[in-house]
Amino acid sequence: MDYPASTRLTRMSAMLHEPHLARRWNCGLNLYLKVFLRKVDPPNGAASGTAGDWSTRNERGPARNIVRWRPGEFEAWAAQYQRECQSFWDTKFWLCPPATYAGMDFQYQGTTLRPNARCGLHLSLVTSDTLADHTIEVVRLADTEPYYRSDSAHYDHRDLAPNPTSGGLTQRAHIHEVGHLLTLGHSNESDAACVNNNPVCYAGPNVMGSGEDIDTTNAVPWQNAMAALTRTSSSQWRVTMTEILPAVR
Ligand SMILES: [Zn+2]
Repeated sequence: MDYPASTRLTRMSAMLHEPHLARRWNCGLNLYLKVFLRKVDPPNGAASGTAGDWSTRNERGPARNIVRWRPGEFEAWAAQYQRECQSFWDTKFWLCPPATYAGMDFQYQGTTLRPNARCGLHLSLVTSDTLADHTIEVVRLADTEPYYRSDSAHYDHRDLAPNPTSGGLTQRAHIHEVGHLLTLGHSNESDAACVNNNPVCYAGPNVMGSGEDIDTTNAVPWQNAMAALTRTSSSQWRVTMTEILPAVR
């Protein structure tokens, strides 16, 4: 393996870093997501105006009342978005190589070690559409506007707050949406009764369902990246949620 090994995936990229003492001789596999948060103010410098939401665009719903972002408010919102998405998804999984894969093996004090890969996320905010893997428009709703239906590319300023979902669960929408940016589908989408994003698709407490639980099924984006980097198949990389030290060969 020549480190760092990198690959461009669909609307993200991945890099595998060499085993490092500070990482207890495990490798680091990082996914890189570049997000442009586009601040949307009312047009023509006005203090207030309207903006369409998902319903406006798809169901002829009314436009929503928006106001100008206050000084510093958007920057604080963007920083919270970045910090919470990154900390939720970063360093949650380790991947153990298939028994037949020796491409990461290395020598240390006369012993051959087979490292595992620590899964990282680097979500960075960029300043233009052209630099971004994904662009999200963010409006500041008027305090009197009760409702804005967000989607993956359109948020309002209230979207960082935990929202009650179903079954007494709560979820922060941006944490769930970053799962989609990482290519994850809904947690229960293999259920035959899940059609057209109905509530069946979101059943359960997983972050890709209605809550914020995370489990080994959420490691698929890293397994896919490792498969692309090593020409193995993704399901051969066993997922753990606690660090496992390199195996002695
Ligand atoms: Zn979703």
